[in-house]
Amino acid sequence: MIIAIDGPSASGKSTTAKGISEKLKIMHLDTGAMYRAITLGLKNAGISHKDIENVRGFLSEATIYFDENNQIHLNGKNISKEIRTNDISSRVSAVSAIPDVRKKMVMIQRQLAKGNDCILEGRDIGTVVFPNAEFKFFLIADIEIRAKRRLIELEKIGELKSVSELIDDIKRRDEFDSTRNHSPLKKAEDAIPIDTSHITIDEQINKIINLINHNK
Ligand code: C5P
Repeated sequence: MIIAIDGPSASGKSTTAKGISEKLKIMHLDTGAMYRAITLGLKNAGISHKDIENVRGFLSEATIYFDENNQIHLNGKNISKEIRTNDISSRVSAVSAIPDVRKKMVMIQRQLAKGNDCILEGRDIGTVVFPNAEFKFFLIADIEIRAKRRLIELEKIGELKSVSELIDDIKRRDEFDSTRNHSPLKKAEDAIPIDTSHITIDEQINKIINLINHNK
């Protein structure tokens, strides 16, 4: 069984997918973390996203894996914390728009989920990675609420930003992700929309689990 959760930045995908995977005891794959990992790797290697030749070289050597605690490792190093900074958030859309990057990430995502019950979250899971997923959800939330959620996440890693700055950052990233040529952020026609603005995390999780149980 594949469950696809897509939606714009900070719409509640990660928390919801994690909660559902724990309750249903199935695998959780955070595909955004993979694009962030490549972005961090390119940055640390001093490779611009415009330098396609070197991006390709980097990709051909890059290994990504998730350990038993769902921490992400790039080339053998746990980089789960480093990928969450605002700097990486501001760079990731340009990197994830590169067709070679998407090709490799989608291949890994399909390999990891194949033969497993898995909940995947991202932007193109229901449209491109698993268009035949048994369950598809598209999470949305008011922009101000999303910015406040992001603010709390960043505070946890010691980064201070204002809500209005974060609203601008989120809008910019959504715009970029929705208008790129390859696999843009888009609701699959058969995805069920869920507005997480005014419901608690538990309510989000239970709502989706109920929908899954009713449609099995
Ligand atoms: O979900 P998260 O905000 O961590 O995703 C970071 C970025 O990775 C997104 O803004 C998007 O550019 C990219 N992404 C993507 N396709 C996915 C998941 C994430 O292009 N399936």
